[in-house]
Amino acid sequence: MATLEIHDLHVSVESETGSTEILRGVDLTVKQGETHAIMGPNGSGKSTLAYSLAGHPKYTVTGGTVTLDGEDVLEMSVDERARAGVFLAMQYPVEVPGVSVSNFLRTSATAVRGEAPRLRTWVKEVKEAMERLEMDPAFAERNVNEGFSGGEKKRHEILQLELLRPKVAILDETDSGLDIDALRIVSSGVNRVRESGDVGTLLITHYTRILRYIKPDHVHVFAGGRIVESGGAELADKLEAEGYEQYTKGAAS
Ligand code: ADP
Ligand code: MG
Ligand code: MG
Repeated sequence: MATLEIHDLHVSVESETGSTEILRGVDLTVKQGETHAIMGPNGSGKSTLAYSLAGHPKYTVTGGTVTLDGEDVLEMSVDERARAGVFLAMQYPVEVPGVSVSNFLRTSATAVRGEAPRLRTWVKEVKEAMERLEMDPAFAERNVNEGFSGGEKKRHEILQLELLRPKVAILDETDSGLDIDALRIVSSGVNRVRESGDVGTLLITHYTRILRYIKPDHVHVFAGGRIVESGGAELADKLEAEGYEQYTKGAAS
């Protein structure tokens, strides 16, 4: 069973003014089949956690460990992490000029699976996944994220998720910028992948509304670069009612 284990993770970012510690001792274990919601105020370090797990070079790990099935994730390159089954849907997906969605997906699948998917089954796989996400087939020929609306970007992220079938899916604010219909479609994509039972999901969000569609097993409050409280789904209701202020008051950040 795939298990992601984060222990006492410390991460800094470098800028002209020096190095700033953003993550200050994150502890979290995500097992296959589980969905963990990470909720917290803006600037608390949620995206930093997501990028650090995916291996973004801007973030320097200064302490702690991350393992996937006992393998040291922090030692792996970005590509190795993807092959090991770590998937990140970014809060702000980047444009890939000159590369079509169709080619991008095939290249990603080839990298993750270790061999190119057979063309005939692949075309069918993509077509069916796009239908489930209610995407226009013409979308496959557009350049990745070029001129995509917020909703199209998020659907494209979930399309990748459905096709790549990772062991650990990190979804960073996949709900932001979605209208209610897009939120339902995107959530149903996440739930399909979840119901396959072989993925552990880290659902990062600022608002509780996506949790009406995707029921988390565990909810964690993130503030000041670490998890400050954990509970079940009822913790999200408490946050909805009370906000984050109780966690940010007096927190050095
Ligand atoms: P969240 O996703 O919870 O809103 P972030 O992880 O985006 O929080 O940001 C946490 C803090 O780290 C913020 O103060 C932000 O300005 C800072 N930060 C994040 N990434 C960088 C970066 N690449 N360079 C400089 N500062 C950064
Ligand atoms: Mg933010
Ligand atoms: Mg963020």
